[in-house]
Parts: sequence; C-alpha cells; structure tokens
Amino acid sequence: MQFQSFCRTGPRLRDGKELVDLGQTIAPSELAFDIDGVVADTMAVFVRLAREHYGFTWMTKEDLRQYDLHACLSIDREVLDELICMTLDDEHTQQVPPMQGAAEVLTELAEHGPLRFVTARIWPESIVRWLHGTLPDVDSSRIEVFATGLPEAKCGILKELKIRYFVEDRLETCELLSQNGIQPLLFDQPWNRVPEAVAFPRIENWSQLGQKVSRYEGPSFF
Ligand SMILES: [Mg+2]
Repeated sequence: MQFQSFCRTGPRLRDGKELVDLGQTIAPSELAFDIDGVVADTMAVFVRLAREHYGFTWMTKEDLRQYDLHACLSIDREVLDELICMTLDDEHTQQVPPMQGAAEVLTELAEHGPLRFVTARIWPESIVRWLHGTLPDVDSSRIEVFATGLPEAKCGILKELKIRYFVEDRLETCELLSQNGIQPLLFDQPWNRVPEAVAFPRIENWSQLGQKVSRYEGPSFF
C-alpha cells in the first residue's frame, strides 16, 4: 500500500520540474550508460563465485537487496571484501555475462553515434576490453568509457558530455544526478526495489529501453 501511494504522487525532479514520462522519446546523443549492473550482469559472477568458491549455495541474485552488500548479506566482512575484489578483477570481469538484450540494443544505437559509458570503476581497462568483446560489431572508436573512481564524480563528466539521461542501477547515484539536472533512468535490479525508488523512471529491461530511444535524430532546422 505504501508503495502504491508513492506511485500516485508522481515522479518529480527536486527543482519541481516533471521527470521524463516513459512515453517520451530520448535522442541517442543525450543518453549515456553506467556499466556494472546495467550493461554487465556483474553480480551474476559474484553469486557464482560465492556459491563455487565459498560454498554459499543458498545465495541468489535476489538476496542482494541493497547496494551495500555488507548491509544485506550475513557474511564475514573480510570474506565479502575478498569476494567483491575477485568479482571485479581482470580475470572475472571477462567472465561477466551481458544483461539480456544489451548487446543488441547498443549495437543498433552505435549506428547513430558514439556510445558513452560512465563507470565508477577506478581502472577501466578490463571493462573496456569486456565491452569490446561484448559488442564485436561496434567499431571501437564508437565506444567511449569514462572511469570516475567515485559515483559522486559522474555528474561532472555527464555535464561535460551534455548528457541529459543516464541509465544507472545505484539509487544514491540517481538521487545525485537528479539534484544536478540529469535525468536518471533506474535500471531494475534487486538492490533498487525500494519504495523511494519510485521517484525515478524504472527501466525493466533493455528491450524497453531500446523502445524509448529515437533512431531518427537528424539535424535541427530551428
Ligand atoms: Mg552500476
């Protein structure tokens, strides 16, 4: 019930402007993407490693109910830190499956301009290699990756790139973007299914996202 009442309130930016209606079409040049949890199903590898290396056979992705894994998993802190590091290392980054439909939609969008990715990873090399492998039909010059090291640093990069819409799975980052005039599109994951997330348009999957992006972005006549 509480969730429904949030929905009726209707999403709004903090400065009072209406958020994008999901019926609105987005121009490809105004859109950029987070990578982990949006394009890359990184936590699928986390769960596999937890089950195979640590015997946490009970774990599924649905157990990851918060972005802060320490807050939602009853696992020794050192073990959890080790597991997170292993998931993000070069070897295991290359084993991450793409989110369903991501490669198809991104390959199509690359025909309309460069794909812009902004990640909070510190070292982008392994995820750049992963993107090239995941998008073999996209010319590497059309894949632009900006690694900020911190989620809070994403706003500055996105503003420089004149990005209006950003697909992101971390709720706190969505809030920050919204406060800075960038429209977050919250990519659905178990860790962002909380009542306060209704402030942002939720992208259920890549097929839905693909339908919201215009393929006919031409020169402006005005
Ligand atoms: Mg992410």
